[in-house]
Amino acid sequence: MRYRSTRGLAPQLDFEGVLRTGLARDGGLYVPAEIPALTKDAIAALAGLSYEDLTFAIVKPFVGGAFDDFALREMIASAYAPFGHIARAPIVQIGPNDFLLELFHGPTLAFKDFAMRLVAQLFSASLEKSGGRMTIVGATSGDTGSAAIEAFANVPHVEVFILFPDGRVSEVQRRQMTTPAAENVHALAIEGDFDTCQALVKALFNDHAFRDTVGLAGVNSINWARVMAQVVYYFAAATALGAPFRKVAFTVPTGNFGNVYAGSIARAMGLPVEKLVIATNQNDILHRCLTTGIYRPEAVRPSLSPSMDIQVSSNFERALFEALGRDEAELRALMDELGKGGFCLPQTALRALRSVYSSGRASEEETLATIARVHGETGLLVCPHTAVGLTVAAQARRPGIPMITLATAHPAKFPDAVEKATGIRPPLPLRLADLFERSERVSRLPADVTTLKNYIRSHLEAFA
Ligand SMILES: *Cc1c(COP(=O)(O)O)cnc(C)c1O
Repeated sequence: MRYRSTRGLAPQLDFEGVLRTGLARDGGLYVPAEIPALTKDAIAALAGLSYEDLTFAIVKPFVGGAFDDFALREMIASAYAPFGHIARAPIVQIGPNDFLLELFHGPTLAFKDFAMRLVAQLFSASLEKSGGRMTIVGATSGDTGSAAIEAFANVPHVEVFILFPDGRVSEVQRRQMTTPAAENVHALAIEGDFDTCQALVKALFNDHAFRDTVGLAGVNSINWARVMAQVVYYFAAATALGAPFRKVAFTVPTGNFGNVYAGSIARAMGLPVEKLVIATNQNDILHRCLTTGIYRPEAVRPSLSPSMDIQVSSNFERALFEALGRDEAELRALMDELGKGGFCLPQTALRALRSVYSSGRASEEETLATIARVHGETGLLVCPHTAVGLTVAAQARRPGIPMITLATAHPAKFPDAVEKATGIRPPLPLRLADLFERSERVSRLPADVTTLKNYIRSHLEAFA
């Protein structure tokens, strides 16, 4: 499998190349040169497989010959072994034709475990083949960092440094980053906000000498391998509910567009997905774009669903690329305009987007009301991100088509919002019940690039 950049000016790469590269050198995102299509019979044969066997079947064509089948199966098994549910991504019925796809049974209680744990295995295997080490540095507002630290703990050949804004992540998120005892993962509390952390990471990547000496790599949501891993659960849910013989629809609580974009890949591979519904909170740039055709970032307003508080939705570029008929020059022109404040989509591209996606927005009040309603109707507690999804799903539902809403985090990861809506503080699952007793290990650093570089260098020497 070959991968090309959405902007057309970076070299094509194979799977391992895109795994390790992340952002393309021309500023674009890597996408498969061709999306593998599955026949109806092939999709029918996926029903009832274990999640691990299904993952193998879906990711194999994307990974190509990078690893032998046995090795790939072993990586998949290690990735999902610590999940707290044998189905890995179970579906739960919450209404006559409404379902929740529970993606929070991984170790850090959010859907990001699905992709991050597989990516950690793939990284390690790739480095095992080529020799050498890599240093992963990332900034997080919570869920990505905890998933990365957990996924890479004790993974050979990789050292991980995660920057988070001191005092601005939830206690559960912080403890998930600071309590793993593995020596190759480092949680860094930075004096500043998320943007400060992100600016520091960017500065490291822009220092090419530093980047090369430490073998810097990123695992943010634009990494193709993360998208790939997320395609799997769309197949799991749809085939369990009757695909390929019945159409389904998905509603996806969306921030950086990685998760919902993975759904569009499943659709392009042949899964009969009637619609992918983009659900946004009050930071509704994607909903506005689908409604008006104008994509213009505004200031972020903090919400009850913080993992969706974004200004620019990075993976949206991949959807635009498809909507523009894979016209790289036209995409580059739009991205130039975005640099100057925003762009207006050509009518054909807007029509193409609307044929795959629809969208909706949930206010803060609606989010709380949905948490309370779902609790009253089903006894289930849902996290605020999931509630944004359920609010929008209720408007987007079509008769006869099962609506599957992605439950992106466990309610106990965002207990304050759940308690505010229902009066009930959701308890952590048993396997994490001692999280608040575990000892924490964290370094506090000022928002200074030189200090950060020195910190990373000295820790790499210590663990070499
Ligand atoms: C990351 C995250 C999202 C947003 O996912 P994207 O792939 O960025 O659209 C939604 N909900 C939760 C709980 C998350 O952690």
